[in-house]
Amino acid sequence: MREPEIVVVGAGIAGLTAAFCLQQAGKKLVVLEGAGRSGGRVHSFSGNAPKSVRFDVGPTWVWPRWQPHVQRWLGDLSVRPFAQFETGDAILDGFGPQVTRQPLPGQDGIARLSGGPTSIVEAIEQRLEPGTVRLDSEVVAIETKENDLRVHLRDGAVARCATAILATPLRIAVERIRIEALDPRLSGVMLQTPTWMAQHAKAVILFKTPFWRDRGLSGRVASRIGPLVEIHDHSPENAELGALFGFVGWPAKDRQQDPETLEAEIRRQLVRCFGADAARVERVILHDWALEPLICSQADIAKPPEHPDVGPDLLRQGHLDDRLWFAVSETSDVSPGLIEGALVAGQTAAQRILSKR
Ligand SMILES: Cc1cc2nc3c(=O)[nH]c(=O)nc-3n(C[C@H](O)[C@H](O)[C@H](O)COP(=O)(O)OP(=O)(O)OC[C@H]3O[C@@H](n4cnc5c(N)ncnc54)[C@H](O)[C@@H]3O)c2cc1C
Repeated sequence: MREPEIVVVGAGIAGLTAAFCLQQAGKKLVVLEGAGRSGGRVHSFSGNAPKSVRFDVGPTWVWPRWQPHVQRWLGDLSVRPFAQFETGDAILDGFGPQVTRQPLPGQDGIARLSGGPTSIVEAIEQRLEPGTVRLDSEVVAIETKENDLRVHLRDGAVARCATAILATPLRIAVERIRIEALDPRLSGVMLQTPTWMAQHAKAVILFKTPFWRDRGLSGRVASRIGPLVEIHDHSPENAELGALFGFVGWPAKDRQQDPETLEAEIRRQLVRCFGADAARVERVILHDWALEPLICSQADIAKPPEHPDVGPDLLRQGHLDDRLWFAVSETSDVSPGLIEGALVAGQTAAQRILSKR
């Protein structure tokens, strides 16, 4: 491997943003991604739908009206937001003997992205020099040697660099990467920081049409009995076909033991909530993030899901004599855990590295 000045570990939005900002400033770098695709928690499928239509099994929403960094990056990257469909009633499931409907209190400013959040990943990658991102390159150790860092890959390759940015979930870094001489106070904070949504599973259900809209329904369901505890309309912007998505309420162990029963129960729930037309499902896409070894740590599985707070400055400072930095959404002091946090974390790490050298 040719010696880069900077190694970024992880090609989620944060790692890619850091790489983009540093390349813009003329730095020589490589992004090492352990998985066979970039994007990290951003992931989508097209199925048989037209190529421009994507269904998100990771994040879906941004709130550009309330998220100035998202607004600016979307403008810079030419990614277009559109409003989440919220017109019509919501359905309450399991709040009484029968499902009931009631007017939906919409969420001010909630938006989806044309092409989904994958468009952000693609837009940044297109702006990187060719060959910057190397897939299937899991980092297993980082050590200091002769004033440099040595980044060890699972396949035995070693990259030498002056600076490394860990753009992986913090708990994953502690559990899976041996980092020489890491301050125990820092590794304690990293282990305490939950990776937002890492232990969740999401289902996307495709139909020929968004038939619920014709009945004055928004597609929104709040359920106390599940399996989907929240359901939302996820149809393409022009409604050329119908899609719903939902968050699975079953614990990871149960849904992994019996995915067939889970899917059957989801289908039953949809008919209960939306009537007989909901039986005409074209496809169910289930994605279980708890099964992703480079996203969901043992600590995330063992502990109840939590939204990360803004963590201490320790997470935004340089370590090992300013040679090691962190840049994952959960390190951000703005919207930690969210897409906005990932953009800010990547940009902040890049700016701080540039200000030191
Ligand atoms: C189901 C779900 C729904 C969500 N909904 C929303 C939403 O609606 N709105 C919102 O704003 N946010 C949402 N989020 C959160 C959002 O996805 C994240 O904030 C954002 O994608 C994090 O990006 P990141 O780059 O910081 O980290 P990640 O996307 O986690 O990227 C980390 C990368 O590091 C790689 N990696 C890990 N270990 C190694 C290693 N040892 N070597 C090399 N590479 C490694 C991983 O493979 C991954 O690609 C959701 C997340 C999920 C899972």
